[in-house]
This record gives sequence, C-alpha cells and structure tokens, in this order.
Amino acid sequence: MFRKNVFVIPALLILTFACSQAAPQPSAESQPTETQPAPVTEEAAPVSNPPTLFYISGTTHIETKSQTWPDVDAYLAFLQQVTALGVKWSVGADVGWLEGEPRAAELIQASEALGVQWDVHTHSPQDRAKAAYLITQMGGHPNSVVSGMLISEFDGIGAQTYQGFTWTPQVLWGGTNCAGHRPGCDDPAAGLWMPLNSENYFTHDPNGRYIRVGGGTHQLDDGRALAQAIANGQYDYPVVSFTLMVSPTTLTIVNSGNGMAEIAAFVNEMNSYNFVRWATIEETAQAWVAAGSVPSRIEME
Ligand SMILES: [Zn+2]
Repeated sequence: MFRKNVFVIPALLILTFACSQAAPQPSAESQPTETQPAPVTEEAAPVSNPPTLFYISGTTHIETKSQTWPDVDAYLAFLQQVTALGVKWSVGADVGWLEGEPRAAELIQASEALGVQWDVHTHSPQDRAKAAYLITQMGGHPNSVVSGMLISEFDGIGAQTYQGFTWTPQVLWGGTNCAGHRPGCDDPAAGLWMPLNSENYFTHDPNGRYIRVGGGTHQLDDGRALAQAIANGQYDYPVVSFTLMVSPTTLTIVNSGNGMAEIAAFVNEMNSYNFVRWATIEETAQAWVAAGSVPSRIEME
C-alpha cells in the first residue's frame, strides 16, 4: 500500500532503520544510556537523496504492412496475460492497420477494457492526427504519445487536425537518428528529458514542450542491470524509464526469443524492488513531471 506514495518511502526507510536498531535493546534499565555506542555516524549517511523510482512500461508497434499485423486473438490473449501480471501496456498502430484490419475496433475496445492505452505511431509524420482520429472512430481514446519518430522531425512536431479532430502531442517515445532500425539509427537511451531541438535533441530544455521517454534497449537483461544499478544507488534522478517492446507477430521481446514466460519471470524479479513502478509511457512522463522534471538520460548500449 505504501508503494504508490513517493514521499512516504524515505520516511519509511528511516523508521525501518530506526526500528531495527532499537529492537534488540532489552530495556532502558539494563542498558544505561551512557554505555550505548553512539550510532550517529552510522544512521546519518544513507538517507540524503530520495530514492530513484524505476518506471517500466510495455508497448507494441503495428505497422501498415499486413505481413506485420498481429493475430487479433493471440494478441488479445497476450495483453490479457501481461496486464494480469501488472504490466501497463500501450499499442501504437499505423493508419494502414487502423483502416485495413477488420477487427481493429474490437482489439482497440477489448484492449482498453484491460487498461491498455493507444499511442500514436505513424511513419508519415502528417498522419498522426489521422491515426488518432481513426482510433476515436473505433471507440478508442488515443493519448498524447508520439510513439516513434525521426529526431529530424522534432522541430515540426505540433498539434494536428484531421476531419475536425485535433490531436495534441505531449510525449515522445522512440526517437531515431535514421529509419529502418539500422546500426546507429535507434537511440537506446533510458530515462527522460525535454529535447531542445532536432540539432540538440539530447540536450535538456527546462522550458521544452515535449517530454522524451527513453525506452532503453527493451531487453529484459538490460532492465535487470538498470534495476540493479538503481538498487546500488548509482543515480540521483527521481525517475528513470525503461520500456519492454514486443513484436506484434512473434509476441516476444524484439530482437530476442523472450516470450511470456521470460516476461513473467522478469516481472516477479522487478517486483522484489520497492522502487519499481509499472506505468504506461504516458503515465511515466506524468510521473516524471510530478517528481520535478529532472533530466535522467542514461546511455544503454
Ligand atoms: Zn513502425
């Protein structure tokens, strides 16, 4: 019950520490105060910074080409299982799928009933309002996430209107240096910041308009390593982000053979850390703002 309250945790740690120190002492009478070792230096050190919270999201992209479309039943079963584990998922589907998949409305509505969010993922930057509009036409509720973009498109990001429907982006995920997932194209950084401009995309602009949520490498072992680094106190950032990404056709983590069994094991492991939070990409950005918008870009290779 305490895990949702960021501000309770430091107090809890202090209390827990104080209790564990106090517990073995028999009584005030048998342990006169003058004989007790002075605990001041031991107790003062570990509580100077609030703990880093590790926000983990999950997502899938569905492309316009029909060879990459998911089997709707298999994908819904995946979403049921992964959300039952407590993972917050989002989907970004390009307009070809939104217009061409006969069961698109069914998948959108059934997934939203599971708590899944619909991001906006289009390879053509001018299609974003159209994708968002199509989602609403099928009973869905597109959020403010640009899920996937070229870094060079950043300066042109803004509200768009399609068929009278205006969609306003606020969050960016998956910015790449070049198309096609070639070496050097994807930015595998974790963490959040507000990019300054296309030229200085990795520079945090405190007055920026868009929040970049870094998904990292998406690999389970890299998520484990990041959690361990946080546990070791390696970062001062209030919020760090990481995203699991699953292929729509294989339903395994991209560039790996890791499926539901491995994801479930990962979730169990992460739940042993009191600083892990499960949130969608958009919710991760909101949590970052609530925690003070401290830039937390972390390189992952
Ligand atoms: Zn795509």
